[in-house]
Amino acid sequence: MLYGYNGKFIEVDLSNEKISIEKIDEQILREYIGGRALASKILWDRLGNKWEEVDPLGPENLLLFLTGPLTGYFPGARICVSGKSPQSNGIVGSTVGGNFAMELRCAGYDGIIVSGEAKKPVYLFIKDDFIEIKDASHIWGKRGIDTIKILINETLKDLSNKWSWKGLWKDPGILYIGPAGENKSRIAAVMSKWSHAAGYGGYGGVMGSKKLKAVVVKGSNSLPPVANKEKVLSLIAEVCRVSIQEKDDWRRWGTGYGGYGVGADTSSEPIRNWQEEWHDNKSFGVDKFEERVWIKRYWGDDGCPTTCLKLSAIKDGEFKGAITDNPDYELQAYLGTNLGIFTPEGNVYVASVVDDLGLCGIQGGNVLGFAAELYQRGILTKKDLGIELEWGNPKAFAKLAEKIAYRKGIGNILAEGTYRAALKLSKRKKIDLMKYAVQSKGIAIGAHGIRSGLDYPPIIAYACSVQGGDHTSVAGLIREELWKCELSMLFADSGVVCSFNVFKLDWLWDFLEAVTGWNITKEEWYEKIAARVLAIQRALLLLGGPDIYWDPRIHDENPERFYEPLPSGPKKGKATDKEDFLKTKSEYYKTLGWDEYGIPTSETLNKLGLKDVDNVLQKIRNKIYSS
Ligand code: SF4
Repeated sequence: MLYGYNGKFIEVDLSNEKISIEKIDEQILREYIGGRALASKILWDRLGNKWEEVDPLGPENLLLFLTGPLTGYFPGARICVSGKSPQSNGIVGSTVGGNFAMELRCAGYDGIIVSGEAKKPVYLFIKDDFIEIKDASHIWGKRGIDTIKILINETLKDLSNKWSWKGLWKDPGILYIGPAGENKSRIAAVMSKWSHAAGYGGYGGVMGSKKLKAVVVKGSNSLPPVANKEKVLSLIAEVCRVSIQEKDDWRRWGTGYGGYGVGADTSSEPIRNWQEEWHDNKSFGVDKFEERVWIKRYWGDDGCPTTCLKLSAIKDGEFKGAITDNPDYELQAYLGTNLGIFTPEGNVYVASVVDDLGLCGIQGGNVLGFAAELYQRGILTKKDLGIELEWGNPKAFAKLAEKIAYRKGIGNILAEGTYRAALKLSKRKKIDLMKYAVQSKGIAIGAHGIRSGLDYPPIIAYACSVQGGDHTSVAGLIREELWKCELSMLFADSGVVCSFNVFKLDWLWDFLEAVTGWNITKEEWYEKIAARVLAIQRALLLLGGPDIYWDPRIHDENPERFYEPLPSGPKKGKATDKEDFLKTKSEYYKTLGWDEYGIPTSETLNKLGLKDVDNVLQKIRNKIYSS
């Protein structure tokens, strides 16, 4: 018997308006678990032999929404969104909270695989075994708040009409896109619950390219059965006990509790496009957010005891009416300090606009900061931007975010994300602007710098991650610490669970065994399962295409800015040490069984059962070894 899974995946071919149910073999589930790992298997099997030609924003790309066996059991349910990324041209596993994952599992499915492109805007509606592709013309063009208001109302009406004997219905789970996704921006997020986002990867743009405005799901069954119910219950209780008793700061302040600290204490917060990473501006401490803008202090995703989310609203003044979550640390940094904004009100306002447009707060904040530095240096002017883009001006940044979401004027270039925008603008301005682009493999760096050496990301964190600049999956091999090891983070992304609740790594393996009954040891995870997934992600990242390819000799590198000395704060003068970086990078490759350029060797791939990946990688080796 299969425990912990429903064993069913919904397949939707939007080009042919065909819906079917797919079963994935138990052996494959055991070898790839779910979420990000399973996404790598599905993408490799279905698109691997033509990867370079697949346009991530074309109908041939797949859009995957995958849960994992721990989703719904481990406190803090999430869903993993994946596909060929329009940012990196590789695979990114991007997870998002909210209630979607639980609803999908309770509807009887472990995931959704979307292919093709609809002829007109549609949304997918799922209620247990009733699945329908519905017209979305009336919501196409709508922003986030309007989209979910309409979808909630019409879904609740529909549910009450069709299943009236079930009584009152609670809100469905909804994943949707805003205008940024509809306009195929590479920095558009897949949004959930208004202000939650799967931002890394650019999958909002993939949804837009398929004319899929939303997926709405309501489940009325239980989660799938587990192998050892008593053990699962005791593990849930243990995670909740530790979260509540020992993580009070996290519960009280959310991730924003680190906000002031990351700037003031570890000197690693992006400020004005990473020109600085230190500030001691106390007006931007999380206590000021609590006093001035929070209207709800504890808010959590399904089954989560940590309730790290807060709700902020501006009740008066020039930003009256703005509403968003916390904002969490990443958005405090990227839509706050990175834009020179140091007031909670200004930060909440920009975050609310970015949420409503369906842009990723990290990727969007990064490209806004990039544009503002070009303005500061006189490279982009008011004529180019149509805006005086002064640091610290929330309204100017909100206006530029609109232009990006609608691809208007300069927004059409910036909607391509920082890396591609830097390439295009360098050509237009005839100067190299890449030194101002703080990204890795086309993906903006998370808001944790490496120059001070005091924050958690290792020196190779972003340069060597198969997920590019993703701060939730940094390259590193310190297996005892979840946040410093990409092989460990792969577990959280494949489980699929919220890693903020993982205070002890052993919980993950214990949970997996109790839920599935499989005895997958830590060693098997690190040496085989995660190593295999990392190798597939790495291979497809190196294959890349069709518009951009990565050469590991050039692109397994830090953004230039990280080699500039920090200009202020207690760590003033400190920069990333190039020799240390090169040494760590080569140790990292060696430990994974990759060659000196970071290409998995034939021996490693054969050991992992990936002979087919090895065959495809041969052309990359030929190209690199011969030049
Ligand atoms: S810790 Fe925060 S982000 Fe994670 S599941 Fe709980 S409320 Fe959601």
